[in-house]
Amino acid sequence: MKSAVIGFPRVGKLRELKFASEKYFRGEITKENLEETAKELRKEHWELQRNAGIEYISSNDFSFYDGMLDMTVLLGVIPEEYKRLGLDEHGTYFAMARGYQGKEGDVKAFAMKKWFNTNYHYLVPELNDGSQIHLSGKKPFEEYEEARALGIETKPVIIGAFTFLKLAKYNGSRTALDFAEQTARAYIQILAKLNELGTKWVQFDEPALVTDLSKEDIELFVSLYKIILKQKNNVKVLLQTYFGDIRDCCKEVLALEFDGAGLDFLEGKKTLELLKENGFPKDKILFAGLVNGKNIWKCDYAKTLDLFSKVKKYAQNVILSTSCSLLHVPYTLENETNLKSEVKKHFAFAKEKLLELHELSIIADSSDFEAFSEYKNNKVIFNAERLYEDKAVREKVAALSEADFKRKTDRKEREQIQKAKFGLPLLPTTTIGSFPQTQEVKKNRSSYRKGEIDRETYDRQVFAFIEECIREQEKLGLDVLVHGEYERNDMVEFFGENLAGYVFTEKAWVQSYGTRCVKPPIIFGDVKRISPITVKYSEYAQSLTKRPVKGMLTGPVTILNWSFPREDISLQEMAYQIGIAIREEVCDLEKAGIRIVQIDEAALKEKLPIRKNEWYSEYLDWAIPAFRLCHSRVRPETQIHTHMCYSEFEEIIRDIDNMDADVISFEASRSKLTLIDALKANGFETEVGPGVYDIHSPRVPAVEEITQALLKMLEKIDKNKLWVNPDCGLKTRGIPETIASLKNLVEAAKVVRN
Ligand code: GLN
Ligand code: ZN
Repeated sequence: MKSAVIGFPRVGKLRELKFASEKYFRGEITKENLEETAKELRKEHWELQRNAGIEYISSNDFSFYDGMLDMTVLLGVIPEEYKRLGLDEHGTYFAMARGYQGKEGDVKAFAMKKWFNTNYHYLVPELNDGSQIHLSGKKPFEEYEEARALGIETKPVIIGAFTFLKLAKYNGSRTALDFAEQTARAYIQILAKLNELGTKWVQFDEPALVTDLSKEDIELFVSLYKIILKQKNNVKVLLQTYFGDIRDCCKEVLALEFDGAGLDFLEGKKTLELLKENGFPKDKILFAGLVNGKNIWKCDYAKTLDLFSKVKKYAQNVILSTSCSLLHVPYTLENETNLKSEVKKHFAFAKEKLLELHELSIIADSSDFEAFSEYKNNKVIFNAERLYEDKAVREKVAALSEADFKRKTDRKEREQIQKAKFGLPLLPTTTIGSFPQTQEVKKNRSSYRKGEIDRETYDRQVFAFIEECIREQEKLGLDVLVHGEYERNDMVEFFGENLAGYVFTEKAWVQSYGTRCVKPPIIFGDVKRISPITVKYSEYAQSLTKRPVKGMLTGPVTILNWSFPREDISLQEMAYQIGIAIREEVCDLEKAGIRIVQIDEAALKEKLPIRKNEWYSEYLDWAIPAFRLCHSRVRPETQIHTHMCYSEFEEIIRDIDNMDADVISFEASRSKLTLIDALKANGFETEVGPGVYDIHSPRVPAVEEITQALLKMLEKIDKNKLWVNPDCGLKTRGIPETIASLKNLVEAAKVVRN
């Protein structure tokens, strides 16, 4: 059996590409230096795969920033404003990626969006009515030849025509359909060039095929490929899908003249069923996605081989592949020196997954799996009792009943009680939680981590930051205060570190966008709170002032969504375990005299399933209850806030209301009016604080500007339900602009009240 890899991480095992790129941005190295690093990384990645025995290795999966941006260049649709800067090739590319402000002009970066259901972000191509799609770049061809010069035959990966057109933004009146013909022609040019080079296989990535497709979408897809595939000459074309199944277009895909189809058998819940129904053409090769490209757990060989044997019933020519690009997992376990071996033995990152692919491809050819020591060793891991199982936690989850998800008093009544208790003015002012993380704040944390200072010294310093922060907020005249979050650098890692069941890596970075990488913590065992996490900080902050200080927590769904989850229990089970831990913290905060608790669910929207008909059966059905679980036991006078980063939740507005918080704040600087209209139209009951200014920029909003924003909001939102706050935490900002902005915010609230 042969094996294939859809794509490999680009940033390098120690984020070499990130550091080289950042040096280049700062002008410390030349573009030639940057290119050299890139070339070394590509070589290393290809050779690694070849040496691991992978037969179908990708090229052009490398990118300096993002694959969709590479397509913008390849298809010749760089917008005029970037060309006009007159920069060199690299300069223009990075201007689109990061914006450019300098002597040649001032342009913003391309918009960035989440890549399907991952935490990777792509840059959105923009098409104007005058855009002319045509082959204009060389990258895939050069990288193919570069690999061949190393003696490695690769399959160039190109984002497919359908996915490109579906993800592009259309600025004029022309739509995807209007660009179809010229796009198809450009792809024919790509194929012609590859044919000329003697390329054997090309991989067209079409993840958009796993989304809900309309009849028009399917027609667009079919019409594109009817044209493209007519001219493939000697190049074999692999249609690669991932992140789900192709239930809406399976027949059409199989009827087209692709030479291979890549299907995802892990996230694609219906993939096997589709094969059963439709069969798989004898003249095509099935690239079966069976090794998980998104999670960090070792493959359970017995399970994988069992699934594989089912796949083989319906397809004759099968190649073993990853479920998606390995871009979404860290590079290698080799640099993890702190993980205990009994933990580590359960993991496989990108490099280790290559070995799994290779081993599985050999074992799969045999009828006697037990004859392989690799198989037997794998079985030992999966048969052994798992560490970190916690019976008490399991029992707590199993014992949850309806009452655990419901506050005793309903929201209207709570509102009256809380209004009377807090006596806040109309349009109360507050912030989202964090205050600027200055050099001093960061230094305190790093000194503690390095063991240069002890816990007591560290905490004393945090307390000093808190005191300063409280004094500043009182001076500003804010109504509801925060402690400033000086004890945490990251809203998920901080809680993970304080929960049993989590493990942490040192070098397991995953690209989020461009040079930004994240290091998600791993849920290894049952999760529980060991001891109070934030109470002493909040309690101290509250002791300094008469005004209410918000306790500040991250919600269970966000903690889960930004971690690598387990595969042996359900997401719901994990969310409830974390929910119980957060509930304990909420109750302890209440006991300590904290009257308002904010439970952030910044990432609630992120993992909505790709298919709409799964929203309520596979996600919101437990995600919303997991949040309610956290606050079901508090007294009616304790006010629960939540915060969400992206305001685009029109479609799940009722579910947000159903979280049963008393107050929600959200980012509104981008789409404020449409969302606020939707709040009104849906009779939204939760009190709301739509961000009145954008904290992602150092700009200070004028009093008048905030006043106007508030007046606009008051046209749609009941004055008794409106809060005044920035649109997110202030941790990335500097102190001067923060103070100036908040001063204006308080002033604007006063103006509007009067
Ligand atoms: N409370 C967090 C903060 O202020 C919220 C961060 C977020 O929404 N991303 O930093
Ligand atoms: Zn936010």
